[in-house]
Amino acid sequence: MLDDAGTVVVEGRRPTPKGGEAVVRELAEFAQELAPYDTLGVGVPGLVTREGVLRAAPNLIGATEVLVGPLLAEMLGHPVAVDNDATCAILAEWQHGVARGYDDVLLVTLGTGIGGGLVMGGALQRGTNGFAGEIGHMVVQPDGPLCVCGRRGCWERFASGRGLQMLAGGRLGEEVVEAARAGDRESLVIVETFAHWVALGLVNLTNVLDPACIVLGGGLATAPDIFLPPIQREFTTLLYSSEHRPQPVLAFAQLGERAGAIGAALLARTRC
Ligand SMILES: [Zn+2]
Repeated sequence: MLDDAGTVVVEGRRPTPKGGEAVVRELAEFAQELAPYDTLGVGVPGLVTREGVLRAAPNLIGATEVLVGPLLAEMLGHPVAVDNDATCAILAEWQHGVARGYDDVLLVTLGTGIGGGLVMGGALQRGTNGFAGEIGHMVVQPDGPLCVCGRRGCWERFASGRGLQMLAGGRLGEEVVEAARAGDRESLVIVETFAHWVALGLVNLTNVLDPACIVLGGGLATAPDIFLPPIQREFTTLLYSSEHRPQPVLAFAQLGERAGAIGAALLARTRC
């Protein structure tokens, strides 16, 4: 819950149940137990329509065609704003975080998968259907490994938390980060390879969008000391005509894992 200044005053966590409608029921109960409120915003991963329907979420098992907004509104008896979680996160980072003051911002969440949020020309962008920013499923290697979306070689197979784990032969990302920090040569090579994949996607997106600021968020953003220098280096190497253009500022998210929730609350204020 946010106060008028945008500060978090009440917060809580619950594990995600399996199945789309179970998630909606859990959300309704949780919102009612947490604190008295008059508007509710919800951020969910996947393709969310402008009406708040979750069409598909490859990383949430069993969550297709879920009427998140309409069902919650019926259960709670008031309007509910629902959007993609990365769209919510960029709203928070843009209004209260590291991207304050920029008119053209790309947010990339490097978590289990990859999510994307866009602010262009000083306005939040959602696309025709609300599906803008599904950047994790850009194909970067057509014959690459199978993705949760059913296709091969998507960017998130290489540049997400799962991607890092794959590059590390199954070791957890946290272990690789700790070992790299301690100077382990093999882990440092894995981080360099991972940084290459992250930068490759960021360069492709920069060619399309020309952002002033790129915000990196999600679980991997908790280790900027390890990831930012090699990503920055690779980004400059891979960017087309990099010596003839100003480069976007690469910044790590300021609001951490809370960005999605804070953005959802901000969304409720403007849409409910
Ligand atoms: Zn995919």
